[in-house]
Amino acid sequence: MNEQQQKHQRTKRVLKIVGAVVAVGGLALAVTGLADFFSSFGSGDPPKLFWCAFVGFPMLAIGVALLLFGFRKEIARYVKNEATPIFNEAAREIRPGVSDMASAARQGFAEGVPCPRCGAANDRDAKFCKECGAPLRRVCPACGNEVSADAKFCDGCGKPL
Ligand SMILES: [Zn+2]
Ligand SMILES: [Zn+2]
Repeated sequence: MNEQQQKHQRTKRVLKIVGAVVAVGGLALAVTGLADFFSSFGSGDPPKLFWCAFVGFPMLAIGVALLLFGFRKEIARYVKNEATPIFNEAAREIRPGVSDMASAARQGFAEGVPCPRCGAANDRDAKFCKECGAPLRRVCPACGNEVSADAKFCDGCGKPL
């Protein structure tokens, strides 16, 4: 281990210790402040130690940040080794549900044939719009196949309509 790594190691150790001390101190202050705040509700006195919470919460945040920084490598390793399979597993679990929802949404869309004139959703086998009476189906002049009113090409022979 070279000198720089040693220095890095030392810095990290200091970060962990300082982070732990600050986080614990901040937590203690925050709890003291909150406890005083809530106990003052009962007694009717104004909270005297509420400032502790104001000091404690930022201290707790700073301490946790220092700890996270000190344990960054460990956390990164943990996340890489432990969390990735969990994420993959979660994705595997979620994916069928999502695609189910997507196909359900597609189905819902396909369920209603939009009227070319007024846009109302009509039943798939409807021949006329139930809102405005516009014809929803036409007959292909080339092959006689019945096509939906908004079709651009005949789905029976492929001729443009
Ligand atoms: Zn219509
Ligand atoms: Zn046709």
